[in-house]
Amino acid sequence: MNQPAAAAAVVDCLPAVIGPLARHPTRQVRVRWGAREVRIGGDAPVMVQSMTNTDTADAIGTAIQVKELAQAGSEVVRITVNSPEAAAEVDAIRVQLDRMGIDAPLVGDFHYNGHKLLADYPGCAQALSAYRINPGNVGRGAKREDNFARMIEIAARHGKPVRIGVNWGSLDQELLARMMDENSHRPQPWTANAVLREALVRSAIENAQRAEKIGLGGDMIVLSAKVSGVQDLIAVYRELARRCDYPLHLGLTEAGMGSKGIVASTAALAVLLQEGIGDTIRVSLTPAPGEPRTKEVEVSQQILQTLGLRAFTPMVIACPGCGRTTSTFFQELAEKIQDYLREQMPAWRQSYPGVESMNVAVMGCVVNGPGESKHANIGISLPGSGEAPVAPVFVDGERTVTLKGERIAEEFQAIVEDYVQRRYTRAAA
Ligand code: SF4
Repeated sequence: MNQPAAAAAVVDCLPAVIGPLARHPTRQVRVRWGAREVRIGGDAPVMVQSMTNTDTADAIGTAIQVKELAQAGSEVVRITVNSPEAAAEVDAIRVQLDRMGIDAPLVGDFHYNGHKLLADYPGCAQALSAYRINPGNVGRGAKREDNFARMIEIAARHGKPVRIGVNWGSLDQELLARMMDENSHRPQPWTANAVLREALVRSAIENAQRAEKIGLGGDMIVLSAKVSGVQDLIAVYRELARRCDYPLHLGLTEAGMGSKGIVASTAALAVLLQEGIGDTIRVSLTPAPGEPRTKEVEVSQQILQTLGLRAFTPMVIACPGCGRTTSTFFQELAEKIQDYLREQMPAWRQSYPGVESMNVAVMGCVVNGPGESKHANIGISLPGSGEAPVAPVFVDGERTVTLKGERIAEEFQAIVEDYVQRRYTRAAA
């Protein structure tokens, strides 16, 4: 085959559509606070949520962290409700948030004593917008059934959606023992791991069906089944999606610290999201000492944005640098622009609709610099070692100016600011 014919054959083989598969169809759940409504599932975009790590009994500290998470982009924030002291403060936390103008719905996370806390503290039951119930942690035997039913009845009475969240580490042990026993009688028993996965799926779906029988609407239930292994998580959620149409909350539990936690969460969530599975996500990172809790929100947004599912903040495309970038100026500029864009977003989101989809390229030398910069909305190609100390700037694919001297960073930032104002200012009605 000659060269042009070979190229044509390759082009003919490219798939017509590249992108995520169609969303797994689910019911839609609405989580509300005041005038604010967050939709989960159905045709709603995949939603980002997070969780505080403050003591909920510390109302001010918790309200401040909820505010930080909400301002970082968490659309729903979960707080632990683990004691009478915590339950007693939930209403005060909500009031404090309302005063600060933060309308993100709060989800209460209950284990062991949720039936008592929700019954004894009606202010807590009302101030929360949804409850997370772990059916593996609501009691044993007959008490388990009763406690679960009491929580579901309270949710139905207050009109609060429930996430039925099973977890690898706290799976209903009675169900697991029963399934292990059934498995031992199979002609070809499954592996213990396969039984465990099936138990997670069955626990989530059967408890959701029980909740519906108790009186909670089918459109008030979200499911999750969190595990800490990437392959297990993918297998469990594929099965959940195949067997039910409840919206699914995705998250790798105990993902870990730093890059390990980010990589593991991204690997698991990206596969599922690409397959159209998942309606809300959380990245459960263990923060390093001093690291802001908001990091988990940032990572969730980046996962969704890099998959092309949502846009939150203009993206900086930066090359990795190599032997052609001998100074740190190029890394410093990329970081400065990234921080600048992130800092501007709360105000820009209001004034410049669509700005979150903007791409800015910061490139280290002439090899890929001009090419990559032309693909971005705005790009700058910095001089690599041995090149003339000038930095051409490209706007919408056209070379516009060439920057040089000590103030390249400031001048480039001004060009970005000017572009945003010209391109994204809301047209007058
Ligand atoms: S664009 Fe230039 S500096 Fe950046 S990685 Fe490529 S060759 Fe290296």
